Amino acid sequence: MSAGPAGAGGLGFHLTEEQEMLRRVVRDFAAKELTPEYLRELDATGRAPHAELLPKMARLGFTSLAVPPEYGGAGGSTVDATVLLEEMGRASLSIASLLNFAIGFGTHTIVRFGTEEQKRHFLPRVCAGEMVFAFSLTEPGAGSDAASLQTRAVAEGDHFVITGTKMFTTGAAESGCLLVATRTDPRAPKHKGISLFLVDPRTPGITYRRIEKLGMRGAGGLYEVHYDGVRVPRSALLGPLHGGWAAIKATLERVRLSQAAYCVGCAQRVVDDAVRYAQEREQFGQPIGAFQAISHMLVDLQVSTDAARLLLYRAAWLVDQGIPCMKEASMANLYATEALVRVTSDAMRVYGGYGFTLEFDIQRHFRDARLFVIGDGSSQIQRNLIARMMGLGERRREGT
Ligand SMILES: Cc1cc2nc3c(=O)[nH]c(=O)nc-3n(C[C@H](O)[C@H](O)[C@H](O)COP(=O)(O)OP(=O)(O)OC[C@H]3O[C@@H](n4cnc5c(N)ncnc54)[C@H](O)[C@@H]3O)c2cc1C
Repeated sequence: MSAGPAGAGGLGFHLTEEQEMLRRVVRDFAAKELTPEYLRELDATGRAPHAELLPKMARLGFTSLAVPPEYGGAGGSTVDATVLLEEMGRASLSIASLLNFAIGFGTHTIVRFGTEEQKRHFLPRVCAGEMVFAFSLTEPGAGSDAASLQTRAVAEGDHFVITGTKMFTTGAAESGCLLVATRTDPRAPKHKGISLFLVDPRTPGITYRRIEKLGMRGAGGLYEVHYDGVRVPRSALLGPLHGGWAAIKATLERVRLSQAAYCVGCAQRVVDDAVRYAQEREQFGQPIGAFQAISHMLVDLQVSTDAARLLLYRAAWLVDQGIPCMKEASMANLYATEALVRVTSDAMRVYGGYGFTLEFDIQRHFRDARLFVIGDGSSQIQRNLIARMMGLGERRREGT
């Protein structure tokens, strides 16, 4: 999968031995810990699995994979992280997303933009499975247009005081640290007056309202978060004052690849399960998979899944080579997330009436999949970004 050393032809469509081993370790972990009963229970109750799963994932090295060795991690590549998240997505989108709140969101941002003190404080705790981050970006009036955010952080001596409301912060109340995007210079053009802060979720002045959701119910709660005069020290600033947009963009770009990875993993799982069902279920005296209408549909789903996987690993490989690949990462995200919606929707038909019942897991995959064509840049926003990188579409106007 373009991950190992390139062969004479220039492309290496294989994983290294270590990456194959990582895949097997994740698969064994999932078989033992993420049983169908456990995942159904998480979905039914919506309770947070952090405390029981993160230490186990830490013991296997999953939470430290992306952390540099000097802070206790394995210093793995983007392709390594892609293998891990793809395989975890094969087991559960919710648990892959939970893992990504450890290795993707804050960790990546701190490694790239954090001070030495912030790295030494947070990264070993991530490695130990003691905490994940939550990303508090979206607001009631700033969704797709995230840079129009209004939450204010005002300097007061050696502190900042944060006031505002954030919408849809996944896992906020269960996290070890909130990554909060704020406006620090209201007079600057909107992308330029933004700063990021690392905030303890238990700081006085923060309150949470839990919002029930359709899917991804095992990934932690979904919250509206109110920041009411929340005092944080100046040392909580992540990246440059007023220069937070670059860190937000870098975080979202990384998360787009992570999302694509677990969507590909889930899509493959759904196709495999549907193929097995089509081989076993008989109607008119033969397996339904013998009917061309069913087999061709499943072929199309496998082709989409493979195409998504190729786009994904190309983008991950480009990141590891240090080659700019914003367009390729957005394309991988767009294709994988839309493929998963198509795969879960069409695969459901293979199960007939059983697919519509809560006794089969396809309905959970169908519900979970819907998030990824919305969250962290909807399909429409991905297309806008790609169009812009192709020299098309609306231009961003200074000050808007
Ligand atoms: C389960 C869940 C978890 C989430 N987790 C987090 C989280 O952890 N942290 C966080 O900060 N946010 C999170 N979000 C928020 C998510 O990122 C936003 O919902 C998303 O960015 C879209 O914003 P919005 O919901 O306000 O929709 P809007 O921006 O209002 O969009 C509504 C529709 O208009 C379309 N649209 C908007 N602008 C354009 C345009 N220029 N061109 C074409 N179409 C356009 C959109 O594609 C969409 O179809 C989460 C959301 C959900 C549902």
